[in-house]
Amino acid sequence: MIGNALFTLAHRMRGSAALRVFEEIRGEPALAADEVRRRQWARLSGLLAHAEAKVPYYRQVFADLGIGARDIRTPADFAAFPVLTKDIIRAHGPELIAEGTDRSKLLTHRSGGSTGVPLEFYHDRAATDLSDAGTYRNFLQCGWQPGEMIAFFWGFNERIEAMSRLEFEARQYLRRSYQFDPFQQSDADFERWLVTLRRVRPTIVHGYASSIGLFAEWALRTGARVPRVKGLFCTAEKLLPRQRDAMERAFQAKAYDVYGSSEVRNIACECSRGTFHLNADFVYAEVEDPLLEGPQPFLLTGLIDRSMPFIRYRNDDCGTLGAHVCGCGSGFPAMKLDIARQSDSFRFENGRVVHGEFFTHLFYGVNGVRMFQFRQLALDHIEVLAVPEAAASGLDAVMANIRGQVEALAPGQLTCEARLVSEIPRSSAGKHRFTVSLVQHAADAAAGRAA
Ligand SMILES: [Zn+2]
Repeated sequence: MIGNALFTLAHRMRGSAALRVFEEIRGEPALAADEVRRRQWARLSGLLAHAEAKVPYYRQVFADLGIGARDIRTPADFAAFPVLTKDIIRAHGPELIAEGTDRSKLLTHRSGGSTGVPLEFYHDRAATDLSDAGTYRNFLQCGWQPGEMIAFFWGFNERIEAMSRLEFEARQYLRRSYQFDPFQQSDADFERWLVTLRRVRPTIVHGYASSIGLFAEWALRTGARVPRVKGLFCTAEKLLPRQRDAMERAFQAKAYDVYGSSEVRNIACECSRGTFHLNADFVYAEVEDPLLEGPQPFLLTGLIDRSMPFIRYRNDDCGTLGAHVCGCGSGFPAMKLDIARQSDSFRFENGRVVHGEFFTHLFYGVNGVRMFQFRQLALDHIEVLAVPEAAASGLDAVMANIRGQVEALAPGQLTCEARLVSEIPRSSAGKHRFTVSLVQHAADAAAGRAA
C-alpha cells in the first residue's frame, strides 16, 4: 500500500522511531491485568531509581525524606512521595532536567495547562516518538491501518504558516496527516474543509473536540455530505455529549474521547465500549485522596520521560480510578474523567469562530504571568486578565501586544481591553478556565443547553 510506504518513509526522513516502538507496544493492552500492573510497577521503580541518580531536584527530595528509590516498594510507599506542582516546576525548572541530557536536543513545550497557568518544560525525542506510537495504538481500536490518512484538527503554528502551499500539501500527503486550522472557523472555512476532506479521504479524524463538533453541526445543518471515516479521536478538551452526537452522525463513525496533556502525554483513551482505560505503560495514576468519595484531583507520573520526569504531578484534572471493570478485554485499568480542560471558542460579527486554544498560545513564552483568562463579554469586546508574579516586569508591553493580536482577529469590529489584576475568580465548577465566552453561554442558555 502506497500510504504505508509513505508513512514509513516520512518517519525515516525525520529520524522517528515511532513506528518501530508502535510495533513493540501495540499488544500491551491485551495483556492480563496482573501482568499490566507488574510491568507498570517495574517501569515506575526504574523511573524512581533514574530520578534519584540523575535528577538534582529529585535527588534532594530523596535526601530530605531520608530514603532511596529502592525503599519505595508499594503503592502506599509511593503515596508518601511529595507532589509535583506547577509552582515547583516554575521555581526549579533546570533542576528537574536529568544530568547528562543534551539540552540542545530537548524539545521545548509551553502550555497554558488546563487552567490558564503558563508553564514551560521539556520532552526528549525518545519520549515524543513513544507518544506518537501511543496515539497510533489508540487509532487501532477502530480498524485504522498505518498509512491511512488522518484528518488532524489542531492549531497551526508559525512554522506551518510560513510554508508555501505546495510544501504544506506535500508534507501533509507524505506524513499521512492533513492538518485543518481551528483558529480559522467560519461557514466559508467549513466549505473548504469539506472539499479537502473529500479530496484527502481520511479514515481517522483527530483533534479538538469542539472544532470537530462545530464542523459536524454545520454539516448536519446544511445537509453537506461528509465522507465516512472509521473513527473520531477527540482530545485536548472535554468532549461534550452534543458534540459527540453531531460528529458521530456527520461522519457515521464512533467518537473516542482521548485524555492527555502536554506535560504527561497519552494518559487514557476510551475503548469501543466507552470506558476510559489508563495507558498503564505510559502513566502511573493516583488520586490525591483515595479515601474520599467522588472525583479527586489526579496525580500523574509519566513513565516514558527520562529527561524531565514528572512524578506525582498535579495537573488540575479530576476523576476516579479503578471504579469499575470493563468487559472489552483490555488489561489496562478503567478510570473515569470528571473534569478536564474546557475552553470556550470565541465567535465574531464577521462569522469567524476562533478556538480557545488560540488564546493560550498568545501567552506562550511569556514570563512573569501566574494565571490568565480571556473573557468575551460581547460579540465586539474581549477582556484579557493576567495575574503577574510578584517580581514581574515589562508586562505592560506584553499586554499591549496581546491586545493588538486579539483585535486583529476581526479588524474594526472588535475592541480588546488587557489588564493586570491580582486575582481571577474561578468558575462555578471550581475550576479556572482560560477562555470564557459570555456570548456562547447566553446562546447556550437560550437554546436550553448546559454550558
Ligand atoms: Zn474497555
